[in-house]
Amino acid sequence: MNCLFCKIIDHEIPGDIVFEDDEVLAFNDINPQAPTHILIVPKKHIATLNDIEEGDLPLVGRLQNTAARLAAERGFAEEGYRVVMNCNEAGGQTVYHIHMHLMGGRRFTWPAG
Ligand code: 5GP
Ligand code: ZN
Repeated sequence: MNCLFCKIIDHEIPGDIVFEDDEVLAFNDINPQAPTHILIVPKKHIATLNDIEEGDLPLVGRLQNTAARLAAERGFAEEGYRVVMNCNEAGGQTVYHIHMHLMGGRRFTWPAG
């Protein structure tokens, strides 16, 4: 399978990894949109949010929990941060392996552009 994030998970191509366990990998985004911009991915290949199955729900919770822990470790959990998951083309998804963007260290506005 020609999936960029599976290649980072398999250490076929380098990623700037900040956290890893048996089910989740987190690494710095190559094109950061904030002082901290981490991508949190399941090691299981799931192409889009639409492809999440019932059995994957604990895994999706682990993505969120990883984001909250990384935010706490970096000291911006209380001040606040943003998590984003893009789905398909109109949602701005460019890599078809689900990932949570964790962005922190600056102020965000809403609605987003
Ligand atoms: P999406 O647009 O699919 O929500 O997010 C994909 C993200 O992957 C983008 O923020 C982009 O900067 C990041 N990205 C693309 N290629 C690479 C890469 O080779 N390494 C890393 N670390 N991030 C990448
Ligand atoms: Zn993949």
